[in-house]
Amino acid sequence: MERKLVKFRRSLHRNPELSGREDATSAAIQDHIAAYLPDNLITGLGGRGVAAEFKGSESGSRILLRCDMDALPINEDLDVPYSSVIAGVSHKCGHDGHTAIMMGVAARLHEHPPARGSVVLLFQPAEETGEGASRVIIDSKFKDIEPDFVFALHNLPGFPLGSIVLKNGTFSSASRGITVELTGASSHASEPQKGKSPALAVAKIVEAFTGHSQPSISKGDASELTVTHVRVGSENYGTSPGEGCILAVLRTRTTEEMMYFSRKVEEAARAIASNNKLDCRISWTDEFPVTENSPKAVNAIRSAAGNLGLIIVQPDTPFPWSEDFGHFTEKFPGALFGIGAGTDTPALHSSEYDFPDELIPLGADIFIEIVNELLNFSDHIMK
Ligand SMILES: [Zn+2]
Ligand SMILES: [Zn+2]
Repeated sequence: MERKLVKFRRSLHRNPELSGREDATSAAIQDHIAAYLPDNLITGLGGRGVAAEFKGSESGSRILLRCDMDALPINEDLDVPYSSVIAGVSHKCGHDGHTAIMMGVAARLHEHPPARGSVVLLFQPAEETGEGASRVIIDSKFKDIEPDFVFALHNLPGFPLGSIVLKNGTFSSASRGITVELTGASSHASEPQKGKSPALAVAKIVEAFTGHSQPSISKGDASELTVTHVRVGSENYGTSPGEGCILAVLRTRTTEEMMYFSRKVEEAARAIASNNKLDCRISWTDEFPVTENSPKAVNAIRSAAGNLGLIIVQPDTPFPWSEDFGHFTEKFPGALFGIGAGTDTPALHSSEYDFPDELIPLGADIFIEIVNELLNFSDHIMK
């Protein structure tokens, strides 16, 4: 069975699809999950999402386990038989592995259905753009599977292979992308005074955004901002530019800090634009809330890891990266946790990264243990 899961993971790896375009991935999931005879199968959830529910014979809580399934616009730098066949697109965050883990959970639930309650396996699209989770939640089909608890894992290079990375409260940070578009007026490059070039304002905004020293939330600062793209006019020598833009990403460790920081950043950009007599349009995108872990969910993961004899690592501060699973923990009690991908494994989103196949059975086992902790143990005790 595990060989079948590795084969499945590698077939996804060979055929990666970008966020929101996971047609073949979604079809492959539907194809494979059908063999495990779920009691309820929902497709086209929030786009290309798939949810499979396995029900127990007695009533009880509904637990949703979520995996992501999208790949990234990164060229693969890997020489393996299953390397990506799509130029410029590859699975560099291990969502192929997360999907295979979830298929492993389906295989285990098919063999041993939950005694009570139910388990929903959600294969979520478009995680990398921060759109998938919220689209799933607002989809009317999601009402049929509203959960009592939600869980998700992410593989984490830099941590011992198979260790469980666990934290109460905020696990991963909030992030938001800002686009600042400045409009003045173009003119002949020999007569710049007849136009209104945004070049200087763009430089001032980059300076204001970047500051003199770069804060870092991984080092304990409340917020950080990274300028990711800057453009003024087009590449030429004949025209003084009439428009420009700056793209940046903001990160904070709480929602309140994000609201405050966003307002400050907007004010700074608008003030510079207005001092330079330029029109300023600001828009926000790629919104990821913080992932807030509930104590009960964290306890269930801790017991599950203990039952399997896994090492538990407990970081003191939230991770600086973001996960759109935060949209789920905003609405339902639950937790996101990490599974160590090995101390020498290349970083996520790097072109040499590959998901370690050893984590597939382990990931499926830990999810099953969590389900058992909550459905067979806690529910029972509460009754
Ligand atoms: Zn990623
Ligand atoms: Zn990821």
